[in-house]
Amino acid sequence: MSSNEPLSFSELGLAPALLKVIDEVGYESPTPIQAQSIPLLLAGRDLLGQAQTGTGKTAAFSLPLLSRLKPELKYPQLLVLTPTRELALQVAEAVQTYARYLPGFQVLPVYGGQNMVQQLRQLQRGVQVVVGTPGRIKDHLNRGTLKLDKLSAVVIDEADEMLKMGFIEEVEEILSHAPPERQTALFSATMPQEVLKIARRHLNDPVEIRIKSKTSTVELVSQRYWQVKGLHKLDALTRILEAEEIDGMIIFVRTKISTVELAEKLEARGFSSAPLNGDMTQVMREKTVERLKEGSLDIVVATDVAARGLDVKRISHVVNYDIPHDTEAYVHRIGRTGRAGREGKAILFVAPREKRMLASIERATRQPIKAMALPSRKDITNRRVGLFKEQVNATLESQDLEFFESLIDDIQSDYDIGHRRIAAAMAFLLQKERPLQMEEDTFVQEDLSEQRPAGRRTERSTSEQTTCYRLEVGRSHGVEPGNIVGALSNEGRVDSRAIGRINIFEHFSLVDLLIPLDPAQLKRIKDISINQRPLQISLDNRGQNQPDGHKSTNRGKRIAGKGRSPAPTKAPRSRNPKRS
Ligand code: AMP
Repeated sequence: MSSNEPLSFSELGLAPALLKVIDEVGYESPTPIQAQSIPLLLAGRDLLGQAQTGTGKTAAFSLPLLSRLKPELKYPQLLVLTPTRELALQVAEAVQTYARYLPGFQVLPVYGGQNMVQQLRQLQRGVQVVVGTPGRIKDHLNRGTLKLDKLSAVVIDEADEMLKMGFIEEVEEILSHAPPERQTALFSATMPQEVLKIARRHLNDPVEIRIKSKTSTVELVSQRYWQVKGLHKLDALTRILEAEEIDGMIIFVRTKISTVELAEKLEARGFSSAPLNGDMTQVMREKTVERLKEGSLDIVVATDVAARGLDVKRISHVVNYDIPHDTEAYVHRIGRTGRAGREGKAILFVAPREKRMLASIERATRQPIKAMALPSRKDITNRRVGLFKEQVNATLESQDLEFFESLIDDIQSDYDIGHRRIAAAMAFLLQKERPLQMEEDTFVQEDLSEQRPAGRRTERSTSEQTTCYRLEVGRSHGVEPGNIVGALSNEGRVDSRAIGRINIFEHFSLVDLLIPLDPAQLKRIKDISINQRPLQISLDNRGQNQPDGHKSTNRGKRIAGKGRSPAPTKAPRSRNPKRS
């Protein structure tokens, strides 16, 4: 490994139980903030980190602090303060995932609006990590139901947000309950004076870390972004693949697992694609790059590490399917196109929470990134029709059609119909497997897996309208797609063919059913258990205020770009539900 290769996780000194999880969730290498924070926090130093969401800061503090934790001791050792309930849940979920192999480990999210009694019960049972909003934590302290006197570390996350929300006094009061010798890390996207003041008062000789954003210019690359909204990223990508003039493409995702999953999904939709990640041998990687160069492969789905230094002239497009962790990675990614003086195109998918990173990227590259509208269904249809016409014309020019011409004459005289009708019927037959008219996409209900390491999604595309149900069992209860299918079909007597997409989250799951359950079925299924947890099934109504919330009408039969052969029509259902 050359000296400018980034560190690997195994070099950072983390406990083996955490390294095992990192491998499973598929993080290939530490993000810049992780590479800097992890050794310092492992060494017990206090930290003042300027970093925003998306940089990997949750893992930057969770991994080392969990490494130092003593799971056999059943009292709070780590407290993470967050400004919002959403962030508390998100951090708690991440911590739960990272602590997967710490025996007897418990994390408790604590926030307002949640049942106090339940929180109390869990606190009494003993938790090692508490993640919460300052208000509710203070309530517990005042009631004496939460003791912070044995904390070994405190993390203040998004300190500038806490300030904005008026939580600073509470934060200071909470800190006064923690032992003075505890370790403290404070993260903030910006460093206003008030935040620095708190750092001065409560951090002990902190190391300051700032994820620098170098300015760079990338002139030969036109840059656009699409705000993730309404459609699944995969459907958005499919539209782009169909509508743009593409030669070669690199798609960047965050994890090794995603490289494989996305490449498979694209293959299933008829686009020639392959993964490129650090788990592949050097020989395999070289082979993939070679295929991309010579054109037997058009799309490579890569992690940042695997695509470093890649120089393939025919790459016309770079798609940032997952937003990068820092601006440098972005600049590096889009530098894979616009090679050898050719013009390149970069497209960035930005989820609502990632808007800040978009602004940082624009600052760092000193170039505005234009918002793009996705090609409409009409655009796609027009493009398919255009390609179809070209194919017909090319056939007319290059083939001997005498036999077929007399066949048409036969049909005409047998059935007494004109050439136009016959040609129309034939065109219909030709496109039946991949309709020329674009069908509807899958609409997003709410992409809960965004930003979370824990949510594993198992997909199956369905062509009919579905109804979404929520089950109160999730990954934290050891649930896998097979368990859900089994429980619903065997015990719940739901026709297994009616079970559609299954999304398993940390504490609950969502299941799409083609046939809505009647009240009697619902009642029966409520009490069925998986791993001793009752399913408590209920209609999931989060998506219902979105017009197309629950309609999954994606059939996957498409005319792919470059006249490839038709794709298989169905995405595989609950493919090998390995843990992520
Ligand atoms: P955060 O900045 O903590 O909100 O993390 C942003 C996202 O990056 C989360 O989805 C994490 O699961 C993911 N992530 C964190 N560290 C890494 C890493 N080293 N490699 C790939 N993805 C990561």
